[in-house]
Amino acid sequence: MDLGIRGKRALVCASSKGLGRGCAEALAEAGVALVLNARGAEALETTAEEIRTAHGVEVTTVAADITTDAGRAAVLDAAGTLDILVTNAGGPPPGLWSDWDRDDFIAALDSNMLTPIALMTTLLPGMMERGWGRVVNITSGSVKAPIPQLGLSNSARAGLTGFVAGTARQVAGKGVIINNLLPGIHATDRAVMLDTTVSKAQGITLEEAYAQRTATIPAGRYGTAAEFGATCAFLCSQHAGFMVGQNILLDGGAINATL
Ligand code: NAP
Repeated sequence: MDLGIRGKRALVCASSKGLGRGCAEALAEAGVALVLNARGAEALETTAEEIRTAHGVEVTTVAADITTDAGRAAVLDAAGTLDILVTNAGGPPPGLWSDWDRDDFIAALDSNMLTPIALMTTLLPGMMERGWGRVVNITSGSVKAPIPQLGLSNSARAGLTGFVAGTARQVAGKGVIINNLLPGIHATDRAVMLDTTVSKAQGITLEEAYAQRTATIPAGRYGTAAEFGATCAFLCSQHAGFMVGQNILLDGGAINATL
């Protein structure tokens, strides 16, 4: 399928690895020029070069912490005019509901709610003026079903989801489409970190923790960054123009719900 976005320009935040990289690769395959971001310059440059070589698109890199005002300013300065925004950042640390104080909540809200809101607030007016835009926010399956050890994620992402639900419907008339993409368990560094937490908490091996979490997924495996990216690219495509403010779950069937 031709996604109809060849020549568009996208910012993919937190994209040197994992799900962000999967989204960047799928957009590059569709002919989209990219602005990639991560804190670590080395992995970022390696990813950018691999994408340039594989897909022949222009790739700009900005090594910065996207959750800070200075980091966002650096990224947006380098990015210039953007047609597509994919928001992403690292997820909050795991723990128990009784572990966190105000500062922990503020940090989680900054990363996973206020950062994507700040990026949208800056970029939506230009997209509306030009009559075309796509925004995909990488959130989490925790929005649909809370994950006990990820209370900070459950909380911050619910706030972003509420903002998107209202905002998406206010900008759609100008050709700007906002949706959220909700990962269940995917095979990335983040998944290994969470498997390691489970293995330590339960005194089991990493392989046993992986098997235990895999058993909760009807598809019988973790998702891949490539299939996550392909869905993201579709949400950024010309074909997604009537899909407004939706929360698309990619979890191999793990959340047992009819809707
Ligand atoms: P990952 O494999 O750990 O990759 C994270 C990427 O984001 C890296 O490129 C990292 O590079 C970059 N990054 C992290 N913090 C950043 C920051 N403050 N500023 C700029 N770049 C930053 O994580 P992932 O699995 O792709 O997860 C992406 C998001 O999806 C996270 O919010 C995660 O909580 C959520 N999620 C993941 C899963 C899963 O199973 N994988 C499930 C549900 C939700 P640097 O470290 O160099 O900055």
